[in-house]
Amino acid sequence: MIKRLAAIAALSLLSFPMHASELSDAIQQDYDDYLWPLFDHFHRNPELSLLEFETAARMAEELRAAGFEVTENVGGTGVVAMLENGSGPLVMMRADMDGLPVEEKSGLENASRAQQRDPISGQTTYTMHACGHDVHITSLVGTARQMASRTDEWSGTLMLIVQPAEERVLGARAMRADGLWERFGTPDYALAFHVNANDVAGQINVSEGSPYAGADTVDIIIHGVGAHGAHPHRGRDPIVLGAQIVLALQTLVSREISPRMPGVVTVGSFHSGTKHNIISDRAHLQLTVRNTSEETRTILLEGIERIAVNLGRAAGLPEDRLPEVIVSEESVPPTNNDAPLARRLRAAWSSELGSERVVDIPTRGMGAEDFPFFTVDPTIPSVYWAIGGTPQEDFDREAAGGEPVPSHHSPLFKISPEPAVTAGVESTVVALLELMGN
Ligand SMILES: [Zn+2]
Ligand SMILES: [Zn+2]
Repeated sequence: MIKRLAAIAALSLLSFPMHASELSDAIQQDYDDYLWPLFDHFHRNPELSLLEFETAARMAEELRAAGFEVTENVGGTGVVAMLENGSGPLVMMRADMDGLPVEEKSGLENASRAQQRDPISGQTTYTMHACGHDVHITSLVGTARQMASRTDEWSGTLMLIVQPAEERVLGARAMRADGLWERFGTPDYALAFHVNANDVAGQINVSEGSPYAGADTVDIIIHGVGAHGAHPHRGRDPIVLGAQIVLALQTLVSREISPRMPGVVTVGSFHSGTKHNIISDRAHLQLTVRNTSEETRTILLEGIERIAVNLGRAAGLPEDRLPEVIVSEESVPPTNNDAPLARRLRAAWSSELGSERVVDIPTRGMGAEDFPFFTVDPTIPSVYWAIGGTPQEDFDREAAGGEPVPSHHSPLFKISPEPAVTAGVESTVVALLELMGN
């Protein structure tokens, strides 16, 4: 047994080449000296989507100081930092920078007490980096500093993108609309990561599939015929019809898409009526519809229309009073990793950082991201990975019936910055050196 353990220890030593140790040591040193105070600053000063003025200015200053050519105000508060280093591919790395209108109750010493006027509610609100975007931007600065100090190890052009308003899925689109590729070049590869409270701190989680879903927003307007609640035969009740539509929609995912293809149809809002004894003449349903492929998206959106309109017919509504199905133009495509590129990066991370740190844990939910606006139209091979942010002992405590690990967007959300930021820089630099290394 002891011999076997010794053999495993020797093997794991072999899996850490000298280069990786040197890189990891340099990143750890930079974290201690430079990145930790920077993270602390960002964590204490979150800014809401589209209002990331101070964050963007600080990022521009940091990236300029690292030796990059920096352009500000791209698509609002977006920042683009370029480092040209001879011939080779153009590789883009994106970090999103917005915080959320949440009052931090993490109990951390550096918990945010910042406030901003929320343009959605019109109210002054506490702000919090409750999704960990402070890890992303701090890591981006760490990556910039490593890549600038290692220009003899790679050639090509590095494009670092500091993106606004991910939480409102507006920022990536706004940067593209501001001529991002036309002004700075169309990347050969696009990369991004998200810190993840559900993964063990320091781990790199990468899949060949779809880490984030595509999302559509759909409204269904049901036109009924109003009447007295005691004389239902005089009207056409939109609440009864709406209830039938809600139930029939459940068959789309269960009966119409392949059981191996993920999809979601959630009716998040159902509004109708004013009083006990009045049959309303209108009901309004609000849906979020999620997919990981265009095929699923088509089945779901066409199915919603078919069910709503035909249940309207079944209810006896005239052709000009059938339910209206409105699909918002603000659709988000799914985030689909390029499988060969994901395999290539996983191999690089495993050999440079140790295979025990690289995992492939499939996503359970159908959250959406606006990163694909950078990778579609034209299609750019891309990989989006996750960096674990929660210490193993916190998962053990939860498994033993203790305090649960807080989720993203919770006031209790808490990431361990040191393993998350250093793993963010390590994984990004290894990926960039794999794609641009000499
Ligand atoms: Zn978020
Ligand atoms: Zn996020």
